[in-house]
Amino acid sequence: MKVFWDPIQLRHTPKFFLVRGQVRPNFEVPARPEALLAACHAMGLPIEPPGPLDLAAVEAVHDPAFVAFLRDGYAAWESLPDRGEEMVANAHPAPEALLHAAPPSHVIGKLGWYTADCACPIGKGTWVAIEAAASGAIAAADAATAGGSAYALARPPGHHAYRARAGGHCYLNNAAIAAERLRARGAARVAVLDIDSHHGNGTQGIFWERGDVLFASVHGDPGGYYPWFVGHAHERGAGAGEGANLNLPLALGTGDAGWVAAVEAGVQAVRSFGTDALVVSLGFDASKDEPLNALSVTEDGFARAGAAIGGLRLPTAIVQEGGYNVDVLGPLLIRFLTGFGGR
Ligand SMILES: [Zn+2]
Repeated sequence: MKVFWDPIQLRHTPKFFLVRGQVRPNFEVPARPEALLAACHAMGLPIEPPGPLDLAAVEAVHDPAFVAFLRDGYAAWESLPDRGEEMVANAHPAPEALLHAAPPSHVIGKLGWYTADCACPIGKGTWVAIEAAASGAIAAADAATAGGSAYALARPPGHHAYRARAGGHCYLNNAAIAAERLRARGAARVAVLDIDSHHGNGTQGIFWERGDVLFASVHGDPGGYYPWFVGHAHERGAGAGEGANLNLPLALGTGDAGWVAAVEAGVQAVRSFGTDALVVSLGFDASKDEPLNALSVTEDGFARAGAAIGGLRLPTAIVQEGGYNVDVLGPLLIRFLTGFGGR
């Protein structure tokens, strides 16, 4: 299995994070991808840098004005007096305002408009990392199109990013970009199976009205956990996409038995959909050793999830999402990929 990774992804070094009213160090740190990369080396997997960003592939999923903001916003920010090191919004439009307003022209207005929360700070090195992460997802989709499976060590992650809004450590939705790429390259029916402990709200939003892309997500109950507002079982898609959205929320604290059963239900949905190609949004924050501590899955649980997903025998782009305990990320990736490969 090929791995797509570019060391330029380490240039994104977010600092700001808000936890229950307290400013804390951001935990989406470069040590995360370094740990995952070390695991890929330990497994002897070939590691390649992806090519330059295919902007058309990104804009097949994202609003071009949003992409331009992510690319150019920091230069405008640097021209502000008395600014912080990172762009963090202090105002977001309420849903009522979105009915009447247009994207603002001032960088601070744009920052609030194009971000859903303050967990996606933008610094000097953020765009180049975003670009390489998205390129890796596209390269993994292309490798899957060629008949294999590949792993995009995508960082920053992506599944909380909507068509025109960043959020929750995510900027461009790498998994959604990979899924759309698979469609463009001939897969008639594509599924995204998201096993990060957080609901993939951005991916759900992007494919909400699409009948050709199934989104299935196994996650902690949003009644007590990010992203708070969506991720409930009754959300099933709309229009042509009605029935092509499956949320499998789990009670906080759920361990291997309940989590693996939910992943297997997601796998069954992928099978029933008549899926031609698969994207896996692979997060490790369901781990029992995770600082976010929502679910309680062991290494064996991740190995079983890998085996269940690998058993589909589909062309698969595995795209990295969250997971924040740097000490366990490597072993969890090895167990998942080993299970996936049937070894
Ligand atoms: Zn997560």
